Amino acid sequence: MSLKVGITGGMGSGKTTVCKVFELLGIPVFYADDEAKKLMITDPILVEEIKSAFGKAAYFDDQTLNRKYISNIVFKDPEQLKMLNSFVHPAVFRAMEQWANQQKAPYVLKEAALLFESGSYQQNRFNILVSSPLALRIIRVIQRDQMSREKVLERIKNQFPEEKKAQMADFFIQNNEQEFIIPQVLKLHQELLKKAHES
Ligand code: ATP
Repeated sequence: MSLKVGITGGMGSGKTTVCKVFELLGIPVFYADDEAKKLMITDPILVEEIKSAFGKAAYFDDQTLNRKYISNIVFKDPEQLKMLNSFVHPAVFRAMEQWANQQKAPYVLKEAALLFESGSYQQNRFNILVSSPLALRIIRVIQRDQMSREKVLERIKNQFPEEKKAQMADFFIQNNEQEFIIPQVLKLHQELLKKAHES
């Protein structure tokens, strides 16, 4: 079975960009946040849990998710958000396990924005942190999403501070536009291949 490696980083740190480099090396990547959005529509267990907790109005007649309705509930009340997460995280875990079992690569990556915050990092053999200076992250997200500086800062505030994540990570990639990403990924790739070989 492939070795499971988590990869995360604060908003705008460049974790998706780094994952694309790993993909070029043939490493399969599971994008947990994208997958979670899909599962909220396609996973029958999860759909039922959401409907019974938040009401039938959580879905439109065509069975697509009423995101606005759900967001209004969960972003006002941390307890409701906790409940939604308690349904979504196990569903993502189930999907990740199923996906990982089908992979042939020596190791696979699981990309998630809240890898440490959600506790799901514990399910991985190793975890990688992509780091970037805060000022650069803010500029990148403003440019990418046309989001206001205030909104970016508000979202970043919901994530663990960089120092806390650094203590929990096993490997690091600096995406500060001074050190090139590709040589760092190549070095880490060799290291992870070695770890996979040893395990
Ligand atoms: P989020 O958590 O918000 O999804 P992320 O950590 O996945 O963000 P990316 O989407 O990979 O971050 O990067 C944010 C933006 O910064 C993207 O538009 C990306 O193209 C750009 N970017 C990332 N790294 C670099 C770099 N080294 N040089 C130039 N642009 C970069």
